[in-house]
Amino acid sequence: MNKHEAERNLELAWAEYRNYQQGILPAGPGGRELTEFFASIDAGPGTAGTPRIQRSDQEIHALLAKRTGVLHLGTANYCWFTDPSRALCLRLAGTPDGDRPLIGMCDSARCPQATHHPCHRPVWAEHAENTKTFLDQLGRTQTAEKKRLQAEHDRAAGVLARIDKAAEKAAGEPE
Ligand code: SF4
Repeated sequence: MNKHEAERNLELAWAEYRNYQQGILPAGPGGRELTEFFASIDAGPGTAGTPRIQRSDQEIHALLAKRTGVLHLGTANYCWFTDPSRALCLRLAGTPDGDRPLIGMCDSARCPQATHHPCHRPVWAEHAENTKTFLDQLGRTQTAEKKRLQAEHDRAAGVLARIDKAAEKAAGEPE
């Protein structure tokens, strides 16, 4: 990773950390893990039951930088490539020992290393809308295509719903 990518990743992680602090949580299969990481920055190790640590921006940057080295950007998700053995794309490609994610084969709705954030919402919304349009145009006999597109649409709608639900918590909505 070059310096430019490292700085970009740090900026993105910083923005998501700030979102987290405002109650806008990461969604997607890896959302809980990333939330726990952000919480550990807030709380610090072994401080259960004690007041939050007030960290300087410099300290927060240093802690975030430990994680941003494994951040890769997909068109519709962030990929936190912490453990190749958990990478769904590598398993699907039959190369479980790979040392980098195969973004072109990403299935972020199912991979435990993927997170979705409000910045990814437009891509998923467009995908949901497009699949709905194509579905509406299919004839009654096109059952196989209908089934495939319906699954695509449901997947996109599900991701959208989870992004919105994670963001709703910021407004005090119940879980
Ligand atoms: S499936 Fe996607 S999120 Fe998962 S490791 Fe591969 S590129 Fe990253």
